[in-house]
Amino acid sequence: HDPVLLIEDLRTEFRIGGTWRAAVDGVSLSLRRGETLALVGESGCGKSMTSLSIMGLVPRPAGRIAGGRIVLEGRDIVPLPEHALEQLRGDRMAMIFQEPMTSLNPVMTIGEQVAEPLRLHRGLSRAEAARRALAVLEEVKIPSAARRYHEYPHQFSGGMRQRVMIAVALACEPALLLADEPTTALDVTIQAQVLGLLADLKARHGMAMLFITHNLGVVAQIADRVAVMYAGQIVEEAPVLEIFAAPRHPYTRALFAAIPRMDLDAQELAAIPGRVPPLDAMPQGCRFAPRCPLARAGCEAPQALLPAGPEHRARCHLATKELAHA
Ligand code: SF4
Ligand code: MG
Repeated sequence: HDPVLLIEDLRTEFRIGGTWRAAVDGVSLSLRRGETLALVGESGCGKSMTSLSIMGLVPRPAGRIAGGRIVLEGRDIVPLPEHALEQLRGDRMAMIFQEPMTSLNPVMTIGEQVAEPLRLHRGLSRAEAARRALAVLEEVKIPSAARRYHEYPHQFSGGMRQRVMIAVALACEPALLLADEPTTALDVTIQAQVLGLLADLKARHGMAMLFITHNLGVVAQIADRVAVMYAGQIVEEAPVLEIFAAPRHPYTRALFAAIPRMDLDAQELAAIPGRVPPLDAMPQGCRFAPRCPLARAGCEAPQALLPAGPEHRARCHLATKELAHA
């Protein structure tokens, strides 16, 4: 089957001191129906900018998509005008964030907020949209949904607001859900419930999910495949079990150095000495070289993403050789 989402050689740039610099530099990814891809990496590596590029929400005029294709359900959406993207957002693709208060309207009831995309994209009547919105609120397990339909976001707890945001995102049954650290602000128990809900909804509706997270426990719980981003590029991609069992890229190895534990709490990515290079000072060769404990001759050349297994790719000339046995 065709992928729900196919990204080819995406390049998203920002203007810094009069020069366009790539924040997303040649990213290629694909996502099938029912599949969850976790996008991991430190802050400032281009993860959020990748998802904003997909949504057509790159901030202007400072940013722009300068190249590549983003094919959603068979159609390249990069060339689409804003009004066409508006029609896709909240319909065929939707996004959820860490802080629901930034995406929920504080002066609209939650029921109206779930009903709105149904009226906008599906042309449902007020009554039909309200009926369907109530069903969606029940599906995301808002207790006493019929009564709470008429309440406002501030009357909900953090976890319940997260469920409302998910309901708004899923009202029109999008093919693609983009989730940017959606559970980071929640306590561990609520986080596990929200992740369980998302997995459940994904299985029921068969949507594809791109899940940005810093938390390896979350990756283990929700991902089918993992892509690791560093300095605007994918540096490793593999099925979830394989990347935990046999990470190949030195960056992935450093991030995954913290031993995963059974609780979801203490599994943040490990801190790595040094910092992500700024966009206007990218190393010419391997971008991780200034921080890589294994840097050696050959690393001063730009690195290509090379096969490291049947469904495994890594951007390091050592990854296919000695690191396989280390
Ligand atoms: Fe480290 Fe060299 Fe591999 Fe870059 S190419 S990750 S510097 S070993
Ligand atoms: Mg981010």
